[in-house]
Amino acid sequence: MRECNRLGLTSVGDHGGSGQFYPNDYQIILDLARRKELTLRIGYWLMGQKRGEELGQYEGWAKMVKPGDGDGFLRMLGGGEYLVWAAADVANFGYDFNGFAPVMEKELGGVMAFVAQRGWPFRLHTVYDSSIERVLNVVEQVAKEVPLERLRWGLEHCETISERNLERLAKLGGSIGIQNRIYIGENAFVRTFGAEVGAAAPPIARIREMGIPLAAGTDGNRANSHNPWLSIYWLVTGRTAGGASSGMTATCSVAWTRCDTGRKGARGPARRREPRARSRQGSGPISRSSRPITSAFRTRRSSVSSRCSRWWAAKSCTRRIRTRGSRPRRSR
Ligand SMILES: [Zn+2]
Repeated sequence: MRECNRLGLTSVGDHGGSGQFYPNDYQIILDLARRKELTLRIGYWLMGQKRGEELGQYEGWAKMVKPGDGDGFLRMLGGGEYLVWAAADVANFGYDFNGFAPVMEKELGGVMAFVAQRGWPFRLHTVYDSSIERVLNVVEQVAKEVPLERLRWGLEHCETISERNLERLAKLGGSIGIQNRIYIGENAFVRTFGAEVGAAAPPIARIREMGIPLAAGTDGNRANSHNPWLSIYWLVTGRTAGGASSGMTATCSVAWTRCDTGRKGARGPARRREPRARSRQGSGPISRSSRPITSAFRTRRSSVSSRCSRWWAAKSCTRRIRTRGSRPRRSR
């Protein structure tokens, strides 16, 4: 939490991860929430963990928790980003995806129908257009039985999604989450998919034109850096770590995907409530100085101030760290 606060974050979304079993592996964060010691607002989706046994897991979780449970600092949001491992098209930009096993449609359809019938929003990890094609087949089948338009479901990543599949997703009322994974993976991506696809991936301008709710993030911290400023730099300038530019600009609606419209990411009265999160970070709010990233806050055990003179380059950060009882020291 301190590391996220240092980067100016007051709110994050947790799309699950392998080996994160609810509720056992969530005890520390649940305890901090009970003690009202969270300095970061966390919305979390529950991800299927045991290949082939995901439906049983979701049946068990549905008896323990439901979307909306929690409070403004820790709230359960739904299922994903893997509902089933059979629908995982794990990203490696050095290779094109070689397809799901035939069992994918049956397993994904079973879990998706189960969570949708219970009103759970869901997120699905989908990178390649060929896998998005098959996942949307399943969504279309489930949508015939369970209305999905108001469920705030969506796909994550979508680097190579085609126009045709964007249209299918829009018709189904889906949203898209994108991350700056190409910021560091650009060379491999261009070698595999070509410069033309690379320059447009993901197709942010088209997503916005079509009015599809769009959320931006980092995919930190396993697949990418958790530093949001690298993502914002890539979104605003289109430049990658290698210096290539696709000339994109974007604004995003993360709050929509989290049912937090009006509470987060907005100007106006909702924004004035933001200091609640900041106040838990310590005595000082995030600096509003003209420096692009400057955070200064105090925690119970230490005080930390940080400054990035060149905000897009994490390596240029100079931090000043002082722990109670110790002399100030400089670190890089
Ligand atoms: Zn993912």
